[in-house]
Amino acid sequence: MSGSRQNLVLVIDGDYSRMEKAIEKIFQNFPFSFEGKKVLVKPNILGPYPPEKGITTHPSLIHALVTYLKKRGAICLVGDNPGLHGYAANERCAKISGIFDAAGGCFVNFAQSTIQVDVPSRFIKKLVISRAVLDADLVINVPKFKTHLQTRITGAVKNMFGILVGAEKARVHLSVPRPENFSEALVDIYQIRIPDLTIMDAVVGMEGNGPSGKDLRPVGKIISSTNGVSLDALMAIMMGLNPESVDYLRTASHRGLGKVDLSRIEIQGNWSPLEKFKMPLTFVSRGFFGAAVNKLLYRPFIKPRLNFNPAFCTQCDVCVQHCPSQALTMGEVPFLDKKKCISCYCCYELCPNQAIELTGLMRRVTGGGKQIKA
Ligand code: SF4
Ligand code: SF4
Repeated sequence: MSGSRQNLVLVIDGDYSRMEKAIEKIFQNFPFSFEGKKVLVKPNILGPYPPEKGITTHPSLIHALVTYLKKRGAICLVGDNPGLHGYAANERCAKISGIFDAAGGCFVNFAQSTIQVDVPSRFIKKLVISRAVLDADLVINVPKFKTHLQTRITGAVKNMFGILVGAEKARVHLSVPRPENFSEALVDIYQIRIPDLTIMDAVVGMEGNGPSGKDLRPVGKIISSTNGVSLDALMAIMMGLNPESVDYLRTASHRGLGKVDLSRIEIQGNWSPLEKFKMPLTFVSRGFFGAAVNKLLYRPFIKPRLNFNPAFCTQCDVCVQHCPSQALTMGEVPFLDKKKCISCYCCYELCPNQAIELTGLMRRVTGGGKQIKA
C-alpha cells in the first residue's frame, strides 16, 4: 500500500443498498495494488444465521468488496471458520448467512487445507489454522460491530479468532478460561497474521448480550482502517467504553500494535458515541464501582446463569457438542453442570434458536443486557 496512514480510521455513512460507493471511497483512502494478488476476505460467519439476524457480516458488503477486487485483477478468496466444527458446517453457515452466494464463486472452505503454526504465547504453543490465511498476499478482515459476553466487544481483533480450524477454538477456551487471559490469547492469534485492511460492517450493530444476541442497534456506518486495533478502539468509544478498560485493546496497545487513545487516532468522517448503548450483562458498564465489581465479585457471586428456554429449544444438541468443558448433557432441555462450566458462552453464541438466556443478579445490578425479539 502506498501512502499508508497507520492511525487513520475512516468512518463512512452507509446502508446496505450503498455498499459499492462505500467500497470505492475506502480504496481511495487506502490504495492497494491488487493486480494478480491473492486477496483473502475474512468475514464474520459466526454460525448458521441468516443476514436479518444481524449476527454475521452482511452479504451486500461482501458482494461489493469481491466485485471491486475482481475488477482490479485480484484473485479473490472468501472464507471463515464458524463456531460450529466441521467441513460441512463451514459451507452450510456460509450459505445460510448469504455470504456463499455473495462471494460469487470465490468462497473457499477454510477447513479444506490447514497448517499447524507456532504461537509465541504464554498460554498456547501451537495452533491449527486455515492455510489460506498464510498463503494470501493480502488479508482483508470484515468483522461486525458487536458486543461480546466474554470480551465486552468484538471487532477486528476478535474476528481473526476465526482463522482457527474446527475444535481449536474450544481448545483455546478450555486452556485459557479467564477472560483477561483469553483476551491476551486473542491478541497472540491476531499477530499470527495481522490483516492488511479491516472493513467493519457497522450498518447494523449489536448491543446487549452479543455476539449472537437479539438486540440489534442501527449505527449506519462502515468503518475501515489498516490498523484493526485503532478501529476497535473507536468502536469501543462509540459504545461508551474507555478502550484501556477492554483487556485485549490494552494488551494490543502495550505491544505497539495500534493506538487506542482517541487523541492519537486520526479519524475521518462523522461519528459520535451511541446514546445509552447497552453492554453485556456479564460486565458492569463503567466507572470505579463497575471495575471493582467485575474484578472482585463477578466470578464468586454474581456471574449470570444460563437459562435454557424450552419454548425455543429444539434439542438440536449443538450446545452440548460444542461445550469445551463438557458441562452440558441433553435432557428435555440441556442440563448444566455448574462445576464444569468455564463461562465461555460458546453455547449461547452457537444456539441456532437463540434459546439460551442469561439471568441472575448482575442483570438487576446493571439493568443491562435486556433482550428484545429481533
Ligand atoms: S439450547 Fe439451543 S443449541 Fe442447545 S439443544 Fe436447545 S436449541 Fe440446540
Ligand atoms: S455450558 Fe456454555 S458457558 Fe459453560 S462451559 Fe459450556 S459452552 Fe461454556
